[in-house]
Amino acid sequence: MERFNTKKNLLRFLILVPFLFGGFIPNETMMPAFRMKKIVLDAGHGGSDPGNIGSKAREKDINLAVTLLVGKYIKENMPDVEVIYTRSDDSFPTLKQRPNIANVNKADLFISIHSNSAANKTAFGTETFVMGNKHFEANFDIVKKENSVILLEENYKEEYEGFDPSSPESYMMFNLMQKAYIGNSITLADRIETQFRENVGRKSRGVKQGPFYVLWTPSMPSVLIELGFLSNAEEEQFLMTKEGQEYMASAIYRSIKDYKSEIELN
Ligand SMILES: [Zn+2]
Repeated sequence: MERFNTKKNLLRFLILVPFLFGGFIPNETMMPAFRMKKIVLDAGHGGSDPGNIGSKAREKDINLAVTLLVGKYIKENMPDVEVIYTRSDDSFPTLKQRPNIANVNKADLFISIHSNSAANKTAFGTETFVMGNKHFEANFDIVKKENSVILLEENYKEEYEGFDPSSPESYMMFNLMQKAYIGNSITLADRIETQFRENVGRKSRGVKQGPFYVLWTPSMPSVLIELGFLSNAEEEQFLMTKEGQEYMASAIYRSIKDYKSEIELN
């Protein structure tokens, strides 16, 4: 009888265990799955800052046109994703305000869209940057140019605490706050360059690293895209056409879609 009761109690205990401790045992199925819900799209330059200038095109206009198209495609095809623009007209958010918009809104992704320029007019192709210092010297010209927008801001000395975009020493202060997100940033940058190369037939100059001010502070995966060189006559022409802008925007949209399904699986 005694023995029987012990068995019965043991059985009761075993049945109860999952109910008693089920809520405390970490269980994958109980963790809410990650969903990419918010994207901040940043059209580089604007207002008093035209960015690079080609023979006809101004960088700020091309960046804005492509950025608005990317947002349109996301809104049309991904109803569960919210799009926030740092600018949707010819205004001039500062380099500090742009990533701040992403941080304040707790965005899941920050994408800054730019167009390139070089003294060598034969240079052409796309490149996508993530935050970092690898091969920094090779990319210093582009980094310097994009960061020097700071100098157009009236109170830049106070705002950026002595940071001088044209001095390599200033970049020593860049710590790698983006380090936590670098894996996902590279995944997205890879998708973008693959789309440019395989679906739009552009020359991809690859995924690169650079200490861009706008990539420094976002607390989420972030990339900076250079759509092509306005200093190259052919590429400038392509980026000025509605068709070229639609091709580039849909390539970026598709890479975001690929990236979303990939990270939501993990
Ligand atoms: Zn730019």
